[in-house]
Amino acid sequence: MSSSSPFGSQPSALSPRIASRRTVHDVAVVGAGMVGAALALRLAQDGFDVAVIEPRAPAPWCVDDDVDLRVVALAPSSVALFDAIGVWKPIETARACPYRRMHVWDALAPGTLDFDSADDGTATLGYIVENRLIQHTLWQALQRDARVGVQCPARVAATAIDGERRTLELDDGSRISARLVVAADGGDSVLRELTGIATRDRDYAQRAVVAHVTTTRPHEATAWQRFLPGATIAFLPLSDGRSSIVWSAPETEAARLLALDDATFCSELGAAFDFRLGTIASTTARAAFPLRLKLAERYAAERIALMGDAAHIVHPLAGQGVNLGLRDVAELVVTAGAERAAGRDFAAASALRRYERRRRSDNALSAHAFDAIQRVFGSDAMELAALRGAGLTLVDRIAPLKRLFARHAAGR
Ligand SMILES: Cc1cc2nc3c(=O)[nH]c(=O)nc-3n(C[C@H](O)[C@H](O)[C@H](O)COP(=O)(O)OP(=O)(O)OC[C@H]3O[C@@H](n4cnc5c(N)ncnc54)[C@H](O)[C@@H]3O)c2cc1C
Repeated sequence: MSSSSPFGSQPSALSPRIASRRTVHDVAVVGAGMVGAALALRLAQDGFDVAVIEPRAPAPWCVDDDVDLRVVALAPSSVALFDAIGVWKPIETARACPYRRMHVWDALAPGTLDFDSADDGTATLGYIVENRLIQHTLWQALQRDARVGVQCPARVAATAIDGERRTLELDDGSRISARLVVAADGGDSVLRELTGIATRDRDYAQRAVVAHVTTTRPHEATAWQRFLPGATIAFLPLSDGRSSIVWSAPETEAARLLALDDATFCSELGAAFDFRLGTIASTTARAAFPLRLKLAERYAAERIALMGDAAHIVHPLAGQGVNLGLRDVAELVVTAGAERAAGRDFAAASALRRYERRRRSDNALSAHAFDAIQRVFGSDAMELAALRGAGLTLVDRIAPLKRLFARHAAGR
């Protein structure tokens, strides 16, 4: 393993803002995004002594602020995890929009795909929630939890193995050590780099243009998705009646969409969405995010585990990125808890390999499925049109296949 740099001998200088005094922990979680923060809280709940290292506190969330542009579709498995760590009720009460149906259709072929929570006997398929609200709520819970030591602002500068522990050197010169270090530091993970774990990458040469729009017809608590030649548009319901749109398009087209004046953007969006929700009456400012596929070749090295975007970045067309990361959390908690209950080292290589085996296969399956959908539907080749229509119709008509899709999306 290619970790470590020789550690210097500077005295510890803990951050004056938020700092844990303890330097020896069971688990050190690097990165307090949605995935890292949820893991830290869940492990602390199970009696692990946890440290969290994060360079910046999330921006505060306030109910009077407009709905933030970044939202995620949370699957029931993610909601259940948030509920278990006590953050779901405050999130739901603050602002979350349940969606009960999903309707997918294609501009080039007649097939459709429909999911209804009633078919599954559940109240919802999931919830649309602002990233910032989730991060803010998790951060507040971290600060309240005496079992978690938060180091912020702090970054990992180096890491090395020290017997049965992994040591982290932070950018202020201080060090902490833990039996297990978890890299939850996002797609450009420094820890992944420091431990020499390679990734397989694909740049989709696309950007996701996001905005919140008002439509003249109600969204019907439905997540809508339309495939177009070379692009995808999703309309996700918001609790104030607007829809959050994600328009994934090639770079140059995305740049053009961003540069349009509001009236032209609304009129192009309405037409591209086949006026399914009527015309677009207004839009917020727009933002865009580059789209890429990035899969870590390993999720584990000596006393280190990768999770969330540090381990896998997937195309957002299925709205599964953070849901997969939160399933990593659930798996690591089960694995570590079972090892410890059996009196074994919860961060031994065999335990981390088990975590890796279970999560890497699930994530790779999802990533490749989204990638295949993106390739088929992202193409404007007419010869693929029949396959496109047949694909949607086929999944919609074959009940077990459809149930499989629905179960996977729900994280069951
Ligand atoms: C347009 C778009 C739409 C999406 N929609 C959905 C959706 O509907 N549903 C869904 O499930 N997913 C969706 N996703 C994906 C989802 O946003 C990500 O998967 C998720 O935010 C990843 O969370 P994370 O905690 O793993 O990483 P991040 O959110 O990137 O968090 C990483 C954390 O690590 C910290 N960090 C960075 N470097 C260091 C360091 N050196 N030391 C310590 N800490 C560090 C960062 O400050 C940050 O807090 C979407 C993505 C995009 C682009």
